[in-house]
Amino acid sequence: MSVTYNIAIDGPAGAGKSTIARAAAARLGFVYVDTGAMYRAMAVYFLRKGIAPDDEAAISAACGDIQIDIRYEDGTQHVFLNGEDVSGIIRTEEVGNMASASSVYAAVRRKLLNLQQNLAQSENVIMDGRDIGTCVLPNAQTKIYLTASSHVRALRRLRELEEKGQTCNLLEIEQDIIERDYRDMHREIAPLKQADDAVYLDTSEMTIAQVIERIIEIARERGLKTD
Ligand code: C5P
Repeated sequence: MSVTYNIAIDGPAGAGKSTIARAAAARLGFVYVDTGAMYRAMAVYFLRKGIAPDDEAAISAACGDIQIDIRYEDGTQHVFLNGEDVSGIIRTEEVGNMASASSVYAAVRRKLLNLQQNLAQSENVIMDGRDIGTCVLPNAQTKIYLTASSHVRALRRLRELEEKGQTCNLLEIEQDIIERDYRDMHREIAPLKQADDAVYLDTSEMTIAQVIERIIEIARERGLKTD
């Protein structure tokens, strides 16, 4: 059995995890696995069913009716909810907030754990999320805890939303980010925290290219063979 090389990237909302992980994966020829997209796809189901985010019983029961799959088309991850490609509709604040609220429940996390672990066993992956280094891939060869100040993260998010033509308020975005971080860090199951063997990277003052270089350098120091 060949052993895969796994890079785990965890950190709070808006730290740049997906941008960085996607680009680093392309450089290294790795598969990029966006676990947030899986929680968002589940959130789409709960929203469509009109389930309240604090109704744990209804959310847990609904988990039995959900099938999440990941497929790659031209190297891009697509997430499927019961056979429907929902990748195009998961990036809204509404879905993000439902994902953040529903991901605190055991049934929701259990649903995705195997899928995530199986992907990492069959491919060299860069997987990003909140609990990858601590729970999903505790044996990942490289672990990164990626963060930036909440103000910088809110500014990045604002620019992203403005590029999509949405008008938004910086203070509201920052408040939302702070609330989401609090919930992710204080939940009982798989809270967001730095793994003991993760490297802490504050990207507030770094460019995307610098962060990617640093991560590849760390992976090399931790046994990754590249040309
Ligand atoms: O990273 P993204 O914002 O897409 O994730 C949406 C939500 O899913 C997060 O706010 C977080 O609460 C949850 N999540 C999680 N564990 C992961 C990835 C995401 O709890 N591994």
